[in-house]
Parts: sequence; C-alpha cells; structure tokens
Amino acid sequence: MKENILGVDVCGDTYEQLADKLLEDIEHGRKSFIVAINPEKIMKAQQDEELNHLLNQATYQIPDGIGIILASMLKGGKIRKRVTGIDMMLHLCKEAAIHQKKVFLYGAKPGIADEAKSKLEEMYPGIQIVGTLDGYEKDEQVIEARINESKAEIIFVALGSPTQENWIISHKDKLSPSVYQGVGGSFDVISG
Ligand code: UDP
Repeated sequence: MKENILGVDVCGDTYEQLADKLLEDIEHGRKSFIVAINPEKIMKAQQDEELNHLLNQATYQIPDGIGIILASMLKGGKIRKRVTGIDMMLHLCKEAAIHQKKVFLYGAKPGIADEAKSKLEEMYPGIQIVGTLDGYEKDEQVIEARINESKAEIIFVALGSPTQENWIISHKDKLSPSVYQGVGGSFDVISG
C-alpha cells in the first residue's frame, strides 16, 4: 500500500512487512531500492522535478519523520507509524543474520564502515558482513569489483542524500546485491 504525499509516494508497511518483502525480493533476484522520506525531502521535491522522479523511482519509500505521519493524517491517509532509515537498516541486519543473507557496507569516511561492521557483528551474532568500502573511494572499477566479488545480497549505501539515491539508480543493474538502502549518516551513528 502506497500513499501519495504532495507528489511523493510513501509506503504504509511496517518494518516486519518490509523485511518480508525484501527477503522475497532477494529470493527472486529482484532489485529493490529503499529510500527514507522526510518532510524536508518532500518540500525540496516540490521545486525539483528530478528529485521528485528520483524518490518515486524507489521500490519502497519509508515514512522517516513524524511530519510524514501528520501529512498522511491530514489527507485522510492510513500511515500512522514511522519507519526510520536507521531502524529499517538494523531490522534488515537482524533478518540478514537469521536468514544468512550477505551484507555490504559502502560509504562514510575511511574506517567508519569497518567500525560499523564490528558493532553490527556484536549486535547480530552470525551476521555475514562480506565487505566494506569507504565513501571516498572514487575508482568506479574498484567499487564495482569489491561489491560484486563479495556476492553481497543487501547493500547499505551511506553517501548522503541525494548522492546515494543517484548512485543506487545508476549502479544497481550492474551489481550483485538485490536490496539497496540509502542510509545517510547511519554508519557514523552505529560506529558510535
Ligand atoms: N559521504 C561519503 N562520501 C562523500 C560524501 C559524504 O561517504 O563523497 C558520507 C559522509 O561521510 C557521511 C554520509 O555520507 O557519513 C552523509 O551523512 P549525512 O548525515 O550528511 O547524510 P544525510 O542523512 O543528511 O543525507
């Protein structure tokens, strides 16, 4: 179920429902792309057609921000619960550990993705984080080779918005992962 809020589609699914859909996407080898929607992005997208198109191209737009809930209530919609980018990432890591799906962390300053990997391994024993790469590596061949050689199925991309969303759209068809989530500054938060 999706609702259109000021021109941007937003999903009404819970963390559990989204995780189920994402695991199914992996099983079927379908590419899926998660973007976090907040009021700031919706306001920007009002003036910026390219951004509007970018956000609507995602498979799942998650309602990250109480302003999205309020907007849904005001228009008589059904979205009542926030799904934040970082909590979606953590939920997906928990499911990845349970279902043995391989995870890659791409983005943030050198060393941060490795620290986030160690934290996630403590939080979700058994999780397979098969690779990390900082967000300042600019050699396209290195980036593609590292990701594809890892055979990751889920990749979290922490390059800031909208860079990470543009990167996901332009790279997902040539990379191994099925599931792509743009996570902004989440690696910095998790690495602590
Ligand atoms: N970043 C990166 N490569 C770049 C520019 C930024 O990896 O070329 C990282 C930066 O180190 C930070 C993240 O992108 O970890 C952006 O976080 P921010 O909180 O600014 O993103 P937002 O959530 O606001 O989109």
